[in-house]
Amino acid sequence: MDRSFMEDCEILDSLEIEKFPRNGKYKFKLHISIDQLGDTVYVPVILIRGANPGPRTTIAAAIHGDELNGTFLCYQMMQELDPTLLKGDLVLIPIVNVLGFKVKRREFIDGTDLNRVMPGKKNGLPGEVFAYHFFNKVIVGTDYLFDLHTASKGRINTLYTRANLDNSKVEQLIKYQRTPIVLHASDKTVKTLRKAAEDNNVTTLTIEIGNPNIYQKKYVREVLLGILHCMQDGLQILSSTRDFEFRSKTICRSSNWLRTTNGGLLEVEAELYDTVYEGERVAVIRDAFGHIIQEYFAPYDGIVIGIDRNPVSIPGDRIIHLGKT
Ligand SMILES: [Zn+2]
Repeated sequence: MDRSFMEDCEILDSLEIEKFPRNGKYKFKLHISIDQLGDTVYVPVILIRGANPGPRTTIAAAIHGDELNGTFLCYQMMQELDPTLLKGDLVLIPIVNVLGFKVKRREFIDGTDLNRVMPGKKNGLPGEVFAYHFFNKVIVGTDYLFDLHTASKGRINTLYTRANLDNSKVEQLIKYQRTPIVLHASDKTVKTLRKAAEDNNVTTLTIEIGNPNIYQKKYVREVLLGILHCMQDGLQILSSTRDFEFRSKTICRSSNWLRTTNGGLLEVEAELYDTVYEGERVAVIRDAFGHIIQEYFAPYDGIVIGIDRNPVSIPGDRIIHLGKT
């Protein structure tokens, strides 16, 4: 077997952006933790240093280890972005949850959801410790963050942006995005990366790009163009070289998951992006003989943001994620 290219890649203990000359692209490993064999656990970092000084922008993907569309976006961004046109630095983290990624799962290896324990704890559980070092080494000091996700396993998502619409800086960035849906989320009590970053004055958008475990290149392209448009005309950290189109968006101030109240086989009748009206039937449950035993109706006018794909249901399972319009 050939020796891994990654073995020859430099390991750094902190980002040390200043040690890299301006106007270049760099790849290195950033030390975060230690594994069971005593080896360094690192996140791969792609650093694009702009020719001119400016703010630091970070794109972080796969904080859930099976959410790979954002990973692909980082690689596309690396190829496409010309550092001579950039002011400041762009830090791409294609895989945050490297230990979850290795075993193809969403959670960290101790079962922790890293997007529920941010900014982590120095002396906490394994996932919290990893989160702490990642947050302090990568997120602290950044000015703008694009936090990329997909649906979780067994569900499918539209392309949508999740952000705190009460933050005027955030609102400025959203108009350039090409996601057809924008969902307000303040995450007041949930310890997401977005919330922890915002508490550290990092202007953050979370972008949900379709489904887990696969590359959806058309979706990735749309999000990439939205981020580039935002960097060029919103943040003005990219020299203006092209005209981007604006896309119309449905804004939802709130959303809910509709849940089952019965056991059986769920059949969702609504499709992603469907507009549904209060009282409209969106799903049924059948018993093991195929008889409809329960119907579910939209509780308000809304747009379908996500759908649970597994028909096998007991009370409390998810049906559709419905944004309120
Ligand atoms: Zn996620």
